[in-house]
Amino acid sequence: MTLAPFAIDDIDKSALEHIIKETLAFPFPLHALDENTFSLELFHGPTLAFKDVGARCMALCLAYFQQNESTTKTVLVATSGDTGGAVANGFLGVEGVRVVILYPKGGVSPFQEKQLTTLGQNITAIEVNGTFDDCQAMVKRAFLDNELSHAHLTSANSINIARWLPQMFYYLQAKSILHEKGRKTVFSVPSGNFGNICAGLLAKNMGLEIDHFVASTNHNDTVPRYVKTGKYEPAPSKASISNAMDVGNPSNFVRILEMFRQKSLSEVFSSYSFSDTETVEKMKHIYERNKYVLDPHGAVGLLGLEQFSKLYPGFTGVFLETAHPIKFQEVVEKALGLHLDLNEDVIKLMNKPSLKESIGSYEQLKEKLTYM
Ligand SMILES: *Cc1c(COP(=O)(O)O)cnc(C)c1O
Repeated sequence: MTLAPFAIDDIDKSALEHIIKETLAFPFPLHALDENTFSLELFHGPTLAFKDVGARCMALCLAYFQQNESTTKTVLVATSGDTGGAVANGFLGVEGVRVVILYPKGGVSPFQEKQLTTLGQNITAIEVNGTFDDCQAMVKRAFLDNELSHAHLTSANSINIARWLPQMFYYLQAKSILHEKGRKTVFSVPSGNFGNICAGLLAKNMGLEIDHFVASTNHNDTVPRYVKTGKYEPAPSKASISNAMDVGNPSNFVRILEMFRQKSLSEVFSSYSFSDTETVEKMKHIYERNKYVLDPHGAVGLLGLEQFSKLYPGFTGVFLETAHPIKFQEVVEKALGLHLDLNEDVIKLMNKPSLKESIGSYEQLKEKLTYM
């Protein structure tokens, strides 16, 4: 009941227990790469992404609050890939809630597009002729548009803490099954909007014994630069092969600064960035050495862990493997020169017909939200 202090005034105890049980209804195994290095696999949920945890929790909370509501809520969300699929899956069939997902045309993988567009029911997927930033800008504009107040819009991005509070759980669980033999523990978290690492740091602040955190990023290095220079200078996001972390101005970082205002952040937090070339090299290396297939995000996590361990030996290290390699099939197959086996669920998904709508402007979005 780690969540009780945050929710108990609003959600009764048995309902909260039910929500947590449903949220965490899949395994979170630790896979050892060597004696002191572990991959915490977070991709065994319904959309093969760790975002399933947060999306399911948020959907169940909203469903709880909708029980006594007569107005339908509209969850409006922009996605560059994984968020949309997890949110859509979490909210599928939830009464009193409809979900509208905007994604950039040609900007998500074929697998991710299928996850967004094949659900139907209360889920509408809209392909935007533009970039992820255009999608995001449309969402922000809709939230501020008084003429859309009748649509009762709500957000499902990780700015909403219901998305990442339940993620404290897997740090706790991993910690409980590690055998550190008196060693200190470090967790490396592949980071984009810094929600996942926020959950880890909060768990630590609540008493969980993790000694250090590494925020590992791709070449979107706003936070590693901040750690080095003390200056927070956001930059426009740049495309990479670990695209779920292509974020130039991470929205949760301010929360981390706030949490550590009184204490020294550098004692418990490091941050390093890595190029696509280094990421691919690491994926190859681990496949050759361990026959273990990393996705590009997990590979960035492992790179960060190794960088830290070089500087500070003697820790037991865990990196978070945040997505199933099949979600980044093209990159993984090219890096490793192999064909990934598609499981039955993936084949079924790829054969489903897509239901999508297309827009090119805010006015078109507004019309859709008005006449839904
Ligand atoms: C969203 C995502 C991340 C980044 O998580 P944050 O909480 O935004 O830092 C990392 N890896 C994958 C696969 C993701 O989908």
